[in-house]
Amino acid sequence: MSKMIAVAALLASCALAQKPVRVLIVSGENDHEWRLTTPLLERALENAGRFDVRTTESFAGATEKTLASYDALLVHYHGPRWGAETEAAVEKFVRSGKGLVALHGASYAFGGFEVKTPGFQPTGIVEPIWPEWRKMIGAWWTELKNGHGQRHTFQVRFTDREHPLARGMSESFQPTDELYHNFTVAPESKVIGVAFDDPKIGGTGKDQPIIWTVAYGKGRTLHITLGHDAAAMYEPGFRAVVARATEWAATGNVTVAPEVPYQRREPNALRVLVVTGGHAYDSTFASMFEDQPDIGAFIAPRNVAFNGDIRKRWDVLVFYDLTEQAGDKEKEVLRAFVESGKGVVVLHHAIADHANWPWWVEEVSGGRYFVKADGASPMSEYKQNQDIIVRPVGKHPITAGMFPLHLWEETYKKMWISPKARPLLETDAAASDRVVGWISPYEKSRVVYIQPGHDRKSHLHPAYRLLVRRAILWSGGRLN
Ligand SMILES: [Zn+2]
Ligand SMILES: [Zn+2]
Repeated sequence: MSKMIAVAALLASCALAQKPVRVLIVSGENDHEWRLTTPLLERALENAGRFDVRTTESFAGATEKTLASYDALLVHYHGPRWGAETEAAVEKFVRSGKGLVALHGASYAFGGFEVKTPGFQPTGIVEPIWPEWRKMIGAWWTELKNGHGQRHTFQVRFTDREHPLARGMSESFQPTDELYHNFTVAPESKVIGVAFDDPKIGGTGKDQPIIWTVAYGKGRTLHITLGHDAAAMYEPGFRAVVARATEWAATGNVTVAPEVPYQRREPNALRVLVVTGGHAYDSTFASMFEDQPDIGAFIAPRNVAFNGDIRKRWDVLVFYDLTEQAGDKEKEVLRAFVESGKGVVVLHHAIADHANWPWWVEEVSGGRYFVKADGASPMSEYKQNQDIIVRPVGKHPITAGMFPLHLWEETYKKMWISPKARPLLETDAAASDRVVGWISPYEKSRVVYIQPGHDRKSHLHPAYRLLVRRAILWSGGRLN
């Protein structure tokens, strides 16, 4: 190992060893669509890979002790005051050196919305002013002054490229949002991002502050005027800025990358090709492969899946297709794949695949559903909507610690199952063969069959999802 590589490896392991930043998202009331948008904030932070994220929808009543387990608050809230004890705890939290990030509507929370028109009732709730909130966020909304032009796509320019939030990002990013105008930012604040407010669509014709920081005691706060709705929060620039702002507020540093992935995937995730075709399926099927950073799955129909040598591209094949007759080219590609020691998971109807390929049926998948009678073997039978209990058989990493599964499934009966297969799952249901899952006897690679998986009732079942996940990980050599 060269010295450079050793240093890089050491740095990488330090980065991994970083303690997660503990963030509390404060939500639960707003004159904006907080129920839709709060999950987007959670996701942006989680996918940034740096945070331990919690959310509260009822923050009033939180105490100093509640806040002690967090490094930063992300306030996505405009509603009633939180009460003296909670507000004092927030002030003390920030003053003591912790972080606060406030978004969009939070600029007019807590009486920030000064009403000067007699009888004017703005959306949201106006309460007596919480003066320290104003000091913490460095500016507040007033009815006479503030506003925004037509919601549009614009550029936010960093005015301080050396601020850790901006360092490493492009000189600007592009939100699709409301461009709040005419904030008077307190003198102790520092503006780090501005946007030109186009007069043609109701703007002021001037640069407007969009992101500013405030030093409050030993703490760091940061106000971002963006975040009107779900589409605004889906913007890549917004996601990166919120995640980086939260890290900065919590720690004073920024290590979060300038691009926050929409779905987190570990660099060494298993590369999984899910093969479909020849049989319809519920759209819920695809959701079984989402939100698993260690499984990078692609779904492809059979006719494009096996176009060439797939050994270098994939670690595991998941079959959910129905292809009775395999072509010669496919046989060649598949045989090379399984002989190279890769993983195979066969789900549900895919056990009817390759009836014309005895090697696959007898050696690899270890079973066959007879779509029609074949010689002495009668046609197999299926029965839908069966209420069944599936139990694990013996001890195996795939089923470890799993209680019996209660499923509403399509059962199969009169299948051929290799006597050399190792049973993994069984059921007593009269409409089903007893064994409903097995490990194939094939020795060069790990092959699993799971018979359940007909429709959404199983696809969405948490225990079924775990079963499929573990089968993939085990077949790919990641679960032992
Ligand atoms: Zn708005
Ligand atoms: Zn089915």
